[in-house]
Formats: sequence, C-alpha cells, structure tokens
Amino acid sequence: MSFQDIIMQFQCESTDGPAQKGILSTESYKLKTPTILFPKSSLYQTPHFAEGFIDVIDNTKKNGRNPIITVGNSIYFHQESTEKEVVEDFIIIPESLPQSVKKYFYQYDEQHHDQLIILPSDPDLINESILAKSSQILIVSNALQLFSNPLNYVKYITAIRKRCSYDSLLFLPSIANPSTLAVLCYSGADLFDATSAILTSRHHQFFLPDTTSSHVDSIHENPCVCPMCSQTEQLPSSFSFDQLLQHNYSMLYQELILIHHAIQQHHLRDLVEKRIRNAPELVTLLRYLDSTGYEYVEQRSSVSMPESYILQSTSREAGFRPEIKRFQQRVLDRYQKPSNKKILLLLPCSAKKPYSFSKSHQRFNQAISKVKNHSLIHEIIITSPLGLVPRELELTYPAASYDISVTGSWYEDEKQMIQEQLDHYLKNNCYEAIVSHLPKTLIHPSSNIETIWHSSLQDEKATSKNSLRKLSDILSTLTSPMEPDFLSKNDQKRMQIQAIATYQFGTKLADALTKNIIVKGKYPYLKFFDEKGQQLGMIPEGRGLISLTAEGGKRMDQFHDYRVTINTGFTVKGSILSPGVTIASKSIRKGDDVLVFQGDAYLGVGSALMNGIEMSQRSYGVAVNMRHKQKN
Ligand SMILES: [Zn+2]
Repeated sequence: MSFQDIIMQFQCESTDGPAQKGILSTESYKLKTPTILFPKSSLYQTPHFAEGFIDVIDNTKKNGRNPIITVGNSIYFHQESTEKEVVEDFIIIPESLPQSVKKYFYQYDEQHHDQLIILPSDPDLINESILAKSSQILIVSNALQLFSNPLNYVKYITAIRKRCSYDSLLFLPSIANPSTLAVLCYSGADLFDATSAILTSRHHQFFLPDTTSSHVDSIHENPCVCPMCSQTEQLPSSFSFDQLLQHNYSMLYQELILIHHAIQQHHLRDLVEKRIRNAPELVTLLRYLDSTGYEYVEQRSSVSMPESYILQSTSREAGFRPEIKRFQQRVLDRYQKPSNKKILLLLPCSAKKPYSFSKSHQRFNQAISKVKNHSLIHEIIITSPLGLVPRELELTYPAASYDISVTGSWYEDEKQMIQEQLDHYLKNNCYEAIVSHLPKTLIHPSSNIETIWHSSLQDEKATSKNSLRKLSDILSTLTSPMEPDFLSKNDQKRMQIQAIATYQFGTKLADALTKNIIVKGKYPYLKFFDEKGQQLGMIPEGRGLISLTAEGGKRMDQFHDYRVTINTGFTVKGSILSPGVTIASKSIRKGDDVLVFQGDAYLGVGSALMNGIEMSQRSYGVAVNMRHKQKN
C-alpha cells in the first residue's frame, strides 16, 4: 500500500455495530480493511498474506513504488526536526522494540499529510476541521497507553468516532494481538500493525489457535497447522526467531480473516464475547462500551436482522447488547399497549420463536380463548435478557430471534431487571388487574403493582392441565364482571398494528399512520389499508415491524422524523446513494423504514441501509433502498 502518490478513498462494504469492512483504495492499490500492516524490512521475512505494509521512505527514492504507509516522522524512529517534534510529543512507542525495527515504521509524507493525521491523546486538542474530512487515516498516537485503561479507551474512541467522518479509518498502532483484535474492531478501529507478533516472538511466546499465548518451552505438542508449523516436525521451543515470527504472524492474520467473516455475517459481537474471556480487562472494556459507550454503539446497530440470524445469548455480556437494551428502552419509552386491554397477563417465554408458534403458547392460547371476554386480556411474555415482550412485538428483532440457556431458575439480577422494567412499564400503561402465570417468586407487589393474581401452580408446569384450568378460571373471574369489548375484530387488529407502530415510530407518527385503518389478513401476516382501499403497510414475514407503502409514508410526512432528504436535479430509480443525501433524521437506524424527500417533494418510502448520520457522511454506498415511490 503506497501513500506516496495517492488520493485515498474508503468504500465501506458492510458494517456490524461500529465495525466496518471495506476497501481502502489509492491509484495503485486496494487494501481490504480491517487490516494489519506488516513491517517491510530486510530483518524480517514478510508473510505471503501481507497486503499492507509499514516501511521507511528512502528520501532518495521518494517516488519509488514500494507499498508504504508513511506517517509522522516515524513513531518508532526519532528524527531531529522542530516542526515534527510537536507531533512526536504525543507519540508513545513500545520501548522494547529494537531500534533497527523502529525505523521501519511510520514516516511523514508532507505532500499527503492531510490524509494521514496523528491524533493527540486529548480529544479536546483535536482540530474539528481535521475530523470533518472524509477518507483519511487517523492514527491514535497514544494507543498503547490508552488501551491500558479500558474506560479511557472507550471514552476516547467513542469521542473520536462521533466527531470524525464514518469514512475515516482509525489506526491503532502496537495494540492488536489475536485476543484484542476482535474487540478493537468492534469498538470502531480499522487499521493495526504486527508489532505484537514481533514482541511475542522476541519473548519466546507462541500464539495458540485459541488466541491465547504460551511460552514455547511449555508446548510439548504443536497444536498449530499454519504453513510454518505444518512443514516442520520441530517443536516451537526449537524454532528459530523467524520461524516463530512467521507462525505468530499467521495466528494474527487468521484472527483478522475470522473477523472479516464475522462482520459479513453480523456475528462480530459473538466473537468478541468469546475473545474477552482471555483477559478480565477485555471484559471491562466491553462492559464500558455497552454502558458508557451505549449511545455510540446503539446508533450503529441494526433494528432488524436477516430472518436466519439468531442472537446467541450465551454470556452475561450478551444481556447488555445494544439491541437488547434498545428493545427494553423502546418498550418502556415508546410502546403503548392497545387501549382496549384491561387485564395484564404475564406469561413465561418459550424456546421456540416466535413464542406463539410454540406448543406451550398454543396451550396458553387455548386456555385464554375459553375466557368469555378474552379480548380484554393483554399478553406480555417475561424473558431474560429482554425483560418484557408485549405479544404484538414477538415478531420483532431481537424478540423473535434469540437463544438462551434455559434451566427454569432465575438469577437475582434477572429478577430485579424484570421487576424494575415491569414497575416502569406500569407507570405508562394502566390495567385493572395483573395475572402472573410465572413462578410465584418472580414478580412481587410494588408501588405500581398492588395485587398479583397467581395462576401457575407450585410444583406443576405452567402448561399442566391444572395450571391451565386455574389460568382460565382466574381470567374468567376477573373479566366476567367487566363490560364486554365492543370493538370490532378490525378495531382490535388496528390496535395491534398501532401498538407495533408506537414501538417503531413513536406515538405521534403511529397515531397518524393508523388512524381509521382497515386491517386484513391473519396474525401475524397483517396488511392495512385506508378508507379508499389504498394499502398503507404490512407486517412482513420475518421482520415483525411495519413495512410502509408510499401512501403509508405520506400519512406521516408532516413530522420531521424518519426522514431522508436528497438532492434535487436527478431522477431516483432504484436506490438512494449516500452522496445524494443532504440531511437525514438522527433517529434513523439501519433496517428502519424511512420517508424519502427530494428537496421538499415527498418521493416515497424505502428501507435504510445506514443510520441517519452515516448516510449524510458516507462518500459511497446505498443509503436507502427505495421500495415504493409515490405515484405522480
Ligand atoms: Zn503455526
């Protein structure tokens, strides 16, 4: 990769949370990112898989064709120069690297320094105009020191990422090793170097295929089949330095390729949750990213996933995933229960998703439908780690697609989370009675829950005949004195759609969208129309959210939310490319349905492939897939 004669451009191909996979191009090279840059030096044999290099510019051959990244007057190599020392003051380098290696690292390229920027350790010292540019490499000069303090690292990386363009690439020198690479990419970094492999080899450490490392003397059977290891019978303890380095390079590179695959498949978070087990400070880092960095990560997380996607909740950290926290917050802040519902029924979850397709929920459904005024009953499924899942939202991500280990017993923190959410939920949603078909110890009366009717029997399954009979009996006792629900079947379905719309768009937009609609179809596949018979939207299979038609979008066009405005002067055909976007609502997340305007004219609806801020910044890529254009 040569940055000597270039204008760099970054083209993002896919994102997974804050991580991005793409191509960094110059006139003569294309580099797949995230990537690891290898030192190009006569001291070390460069591995055959290396794509990007770090090298020293020989001033006598300034226009040579060597693939080089040239930054600063060497992070590793000090050169007397008053102008450049200012930059170098911020640079912290691993002292243990030999001088001969250091000089092969970053060199300053005066012609193109505006695309290669060394960032100081304090984000407040960074010039805003520098961050406003796109397609540039931002080098975090103090990466090693920053990374030693997980909270500082998270604060720094989120501050930089929020202020720089989505197309900028973050280079974190010296800190990537097989254990840390996944979480570094997940935090939003793109470029790394192979320093860890050199240092590890110098310390006679051997990267193991599980991303940990061991001293070569402790390895009595080589567990690796990399090109280096598979061509020798020798044990790592008798490897030469170069053999050991080639192996360690391979391990680092193998992890990088796994990360590329994980980003493509939207499974980077799963990989991160596995890798952080290698060190407590990595767990700490992820916890800070989920808490302090929540807003940053959430903005970059999709609201819907491909139907085949399963969120594997296999660790404590999985419960703090941004999409889970966002689901919980939207249930509490946006969602409004259907107004005809008077009795809250809390049900246990099922392994099969959506819940209503499971045997247990079909039994609950039979018991509920025996009750005369059963349309007054509102079902909420209680589950960990999501908390409360109103029946109308059981098809949405992640409620429709998570997997969790089920033992039947609840941890104290899970109980507390559920109780707190229920208390909060009941402040915004009123019922005349609450019935719990859950273990008795799970929910307790509180300031918002005066009385709970328990319908499940101790020592019996929730699906046993006796439990189900008790459930029907309690619900009948509670509903029979109540006024019957006079709502038509259509109005009941309308309220179901409205409830989903409040979760998806907020109350104001939901009310505008669902006013006087006519609903057709059988749950869960509902379509809805206006009085003239024009379709406004539907709940498509596998998404669980409303997919709008152009007419549906038009009903919400007086609000300035979920809106993407594009340049005038061209005809929109299939999709909206991000350079055409002038402004987009900050509320938009990848996977959302959005309203598209050309100037002031309403064009139609589409699905967002980027979040709102991202689509107004990216130089390449599809921002919105147009689905329905307004008929002229
Ligand atoms: Zn090996």
